[in-house]
Amino acid sequence: MKIQLTQDIAMPTVGFGTYLMDDKQAEVSVTHALKAGYRHIDTAEGYQNEAGVGRAIRATDISRDELFVTTKLWPGNPAWGHPVKDRATTFAALDQSLENLGLDYVDLYLIHAPFAGSKRLEQWEALIALREQGKARAIGVSNFAQAHIEEIRAAGLSLPDANQIELHPWCQKPDLTSYLAKEDISIIAYSSLVPLAEWRTAEGHDSAKSDKMRQDGAKPDSPIKGLASKYGVAEAQILLRWGLQKGYGILPKSTNPDRIRQNIDLFSFELDAGDMKLLAAMNRGGSVAWASGDPTQQG
Ligand code: NAP
Repeated sequence: MKIQLTQDIAMPTVGFGTYLMDDKQAEVSVTHALKAGYRHIDTAEGYQNEAGVGRAIRATDISRDELFVTTKLWPGNPAWGHPVKDRATTFAALDQSLENLGLDYVDLYLIHAPFAGSKRLEQWEALIALREQGKARAIGVSNFAQAHIEEIRAAGLSLPDANQIELHPWCQKPDLTSYLAKEDISIIAYSSLVPLAEWRTAEGHDSAKSDKMRQDGAKPDSPIKGLASKYGVAEAQILLRWGLQKGYGILPKSTNPDRIRQNIDLFSFELDAGDMKLLAAMNRGGSVAWASGDPTQQG
């Protein structure tokens, strides 16, 4: 299954997430993922694992044009004391990412978050230039709110091909997703598995998930558990299938080979309309994947 990002560029709908993996874990896990059938890998300058991702990609005999590789520009963030990138440092950042990955181009290059303030448009113009140079086939943003995208339109620049945002039944962003659909900006969902009791339980894997959310996800009578037993699949597969049926790209991350295989085994069942309605009623609003708070509301 693919999502058409532009007339010429199709993105495999199921991508493999690599956040919170070090270089070695990324190399091993991406190798498992490619064996399990993933052809779309999501990394970022900020994850500091592009070199491991690149080693795994180069070690397979899958041809480059069958693979879809996304990386992200870390835009800087004055609120965290990180210098904000300008046109020249944005160009240098993609060159460095390509060197880390050992690739000549990425399939999708995203601005990781709207943190650059008055330099946001300069970064976007740099991405447009990088697309023209062929270093990024498609370009987009991540964690951009409608206002950040309207800023691009007001400047007369071409709109992003995609926006990567947190989306799962507890965080459905109905206004933003309707806007993106209307503007033909493809939606890529991250942190689809937030409602699981197992989500980011490892030491140091921080987030803004509340204790109440953790307790709700673990309840034996949770609606997601009910659906998993109805369809005879794992809870993770219900959450990922919801994303697919909403028309989103999805990016499950795991370092566990069995889970890596499970998370792409999504095509032998379909949630019925009543169950999609039940999941639609579970929206609680807030994003939790970033410990620092909802990034779409910053910058
Ligand atoms: P996720 O894929 O929603 O969930 C990963 C967590 O769930 C890990 O703790 C993983 O543990 C566990 N898990 C995975 N598969 C499971 C299964 N089948 N059953 C039970 N538990 C399972 O988390 P995410 O990393 O937050 O998001 C996915 C990807 O989206 C990231 O890796 C990254 O590529 C991207 N992302 C982007 C942004 C952004 O700002 N643009 C933010 C967050 C994420 P194990 O590893 O132990 O299996």
